[in-house]
Formats: sequence, C-alpha cells, structure tokens
Amino acid sequence: MTELYGGVETGGTWCVCALGNGPGELVAREQFRTGSPDETLERIAAFFEAHARPLALGVGAFGPLDLEERSPTWGYVTTTPKPGWRHTSVAVALRDRLGLPVAFDTDVGAAALAEHRWGAGAGARSLCYLTVGTGIGAGLIHDGRIWRGLIHPEVGHLRIPHDRERDPFEGSCRVHGDCWEGLAAGGAIAGRWGAAPEELPDGHLAWELEAEYLALGILAIVSVVSPHRIVAGGGVLGRAPVLDGVRRRLPELLAGYLDSPLLGEQIEHYIVAPGLGDDAGVLGAIALARDLVQR
Ligand code: ZN
Repeated sequence: MTELYGGVETGGTWCVCALGNGPGELVAREQFRTGSPDETLERIAAFFEAHARPLALGVGAFGPLDLEERSPTWGYVTTTPKPGWRHTSVAVALRDRLGLPVAFDTDVGAAALAEHRWGAGAGARSLCYLTVGTGIGAGLIHDGRIWRGLIHPEVGHLRIPHDRERDPFEGSCRVHGDCWEGLAAGGAIAGRWGAAPEELPDGHLAWELEAEYLALGILAIVSVVSPHRIVAGGGVLGRAPVLDGVRRRLPELLAGYLDSPLLGEQIEHYIVAPGLGDDAGVLGAIALARDLVQR
C-alpha cells in the first residue's frame, strides 16, 4: 500500500479535504462550504478521524497567513477581511487536535506546487500559478519550492492603472478599493455589470476590459519575477475571451522590450491552462505534507 498523506485546502468559499499520495491516488475526498473557523476545523478533523491515519498533513489556506516558523502565531490566518477568521489558528489547531505533523502555506502556493510537480507547470524552471475567480491570487515556484519572502506574495492587491473615464467603477476591494482584485476579480465584475461573471455571455463588453486589466497585472508579474511559465486558473481567467484577450494584450503591452518567443508568437505555451483543475490546491497540500516527511 502506498503511503498516505493528508491535504486540506481552506479556500474563501470551499474547503477540500483529501487523503492520498498524489493525482489519481486519492483514497478519500470531501468538499464543503467554508463556514466559521470552529465548524470548518471540526469538519476537517472529523474527515481525517474517519479514515486511515496519514503520515502528515498539509494545509493550503486563504490568507494573509503567518508562515514564519519561529513566530508565536505560525499557522494563523492573520489580517483577512473574511468575517470571523481574523487571527485564527488553523495549522496549530489541526496539529494539536489530530496529533500529526502539519505543513502550512497559502492555497495558491499549494496549487502552484501541485501544478509544478504534476500539472501544466511540469518541467518549468520557475512558475507563476495565477488564479482569477472570486479573488485574485498567485503562488510562485522557484527551485522547486514555494517562494515566500517576508510574508508571502499577495498579487491580488498590486496596483494597475485605472482609467476612470473608461471605467468609473470604484473598485470592490474592502481594503484598497481599486487594486487589481478590486478591479478585476469576480466581485468587481458583478459590481460593475450587475451580473455574476458566469451569467455574462462570451460576447459581453465586460471581457475586453477584463482582459486589459488582467494583462496589466500579468505585465507587472512578468516584469518583477520573470517566471518561465504562467499557469492561468480560476473561473474568470478560464473564460475563452479572457484568456485569448490576455494572450493578445500582454505582448502588445511589452512592446517587444523583452526578447523571447514565449512572450510573442509562442504566448499560448507561456500562459497555459491548468492541468489539475479544481484539485490543484488540495493536491498541493498533499505535496506539502510529503515534502515535510521527506525533509
Ligand atoms: Zn486590495
């Protein structure tokens, strides 16, 4: 029997638990809506108590998070605007309840790790996993590991030009108003057009503006990090007119300044669709647990 590892993805909307060893090797999986911290952590613990004991647990959580291992609040969700979740222990609470070693990172960091190891990022020397759905987030992989830095990347809150004549919408970020996420995530689309992204047809005016905003943010990521590949996930970025528009606008915005065919005629091999679908986050959490045991 293969070794079993536990993975948990606590997303802003959904929480996914899985037990297994990698893609195609999950022996159990459960998904439920992320509720209050108490009820969510209780359901996670109950899932693992009902199955065979894993060697370790990996957790990929929505942030911001405390990932500093020497910090007294390591494993906490910190300054999130999500109601009820500010300064909440996640990793330590699960470690104490289940008696397992726990690895902890962002949900998008975990998804990046999984896409790099098993998915559309395989073989890339460095990788950016970017997801645009309810929010905007990115995980960066460098030398096979998740890039953290002082806190961790929060690309959703970078600033992009906001042409208020073309788009008078104020922005929907509860902290910054018209940051990237405030202009281009699902909540912004709903606020600007009065309909959820999934209700808007492919021919809608929304998608041209959306592709422009996403290309501007990706331009910033490419300019700072220069990843070897970008895996583009999430319900909004996965829409055909958005992905096509971003692939068209990014080379135009770069204006030939960075010389690589991947940023020009081969852009469809640079900005690629995910390979692991909705399971990237929880598979990345399993990868975190595997790495913790093997370290
Ligand atoms: Zn913001």
